[in-house]
Amino acid sequence: MDSVWINAPAKINIGLDVLRRREDGYHEVKMIMQSIRLFDRLTLTKTSEAGIHLHTNLRFLPVNEDNLVYRSAKLLMDEFGIQEGVDIRLDKRIPVAAGMAGGSTDAASCMLAMNDLFQLGLSKRALMKRGVTLGADIPYCILKGTALSEGIGEKLSTIPETPDCYVLIAKPSFHVSTKFVYTNLVLDEHTEHPDIDGMIQSMKKNDLTGLCQQMANILETVTIPAHPEIADIKRCMMENGALGSLMSGSGPTVFGIFDDLDKAAFAKEKCRSLPYKCFVFVTDLYR
Ligand code: ATP
Repeated sequence: MDSVWINAPAKINIGLDVLRRREDGYHEVKMIMQSIRLFDRLTLTKTSEAGIHLHTNLRFLPVNEDNLVYRSAKLLMDEFGIQEGVDIRLDKRIPVAAGMAGGSTDAASCMLAMNDLFQLGLSKRALMKRGVTLGADIPYCILKGTALSEGIGEKLSTIPETPDCYVLIAKPSFHVSTKFVYTNLVLDEHTEHPDIDGMIQSMKKNDLTGLCQQMANILETVTIPAHPEIADIKRCMMENGALGSLMSGSGPTVFGIFDDLDKAAFAKEKCRSLPYKCFVFVTDLYR
């Protein structure tokens, strides 16, 4: 086997809470992570020439150590003393810097593919242990599906699956700095925290409507005042049939949950005609 390909799914946060800011500057989070069927594609090919050669369809993305894919491949090549080279083609479809863990899922998939291509024999757990050294979300992206993420994002537990639904993604063209959002997040006795445990109870009962009513993301308290367009997109989804709508991660991506594909397609067209240029996409959950 000289070549392998793998799909790297995006994630959304069905719920996102920040419990506290740690002394070391990291934040303790409690998040419900869900993979969706929006994928980047990685193709890895062995080369006789040593080294890592990364190519991507997005010209503005780095193809050196600044790309998480490069770093994740290098981590395994160094540890296992791999003498051959690898050519990596990264086809990106997940919007960049959007709150959908694009870079982390690429790195996770690169590690899974390297494990296959060079027959390293590492278990998922062993890959997750290595992945966390590059980014807190990488272990989840190796695991995929529905999971509760705690600590700084590295403590993962299995929870009941999100009920079947359609997901409308709308990513406006402006960028949001994750650092800005976390720096400006106010956590005090007045802070209202999302009820993550309540959401998990709804998932246990397979109650999509109940879950959608509880969905919340504490980071909206920072991102929405800075970018009120996000509230407009949420409103557009809710007025056009969504059972719930929320910002994912630190934004700016907004997603809507629908129980009907036609309703999701209709809302997609409505979001497309909003004054801000939005990437819009209807998909479903990746199990
Ligand atoms: P998260 O949801 O984990 O906060 P995100 O979806 O907001 O992540 P990414 O798409 O991962 O953000 O991109 C964040 C930054 O990481 C970009 O500015 C980009 O230059 C850099 N980056 C490094 N590697 C990649 C990659 N493979 N794909 C996308 N961005 C990458």
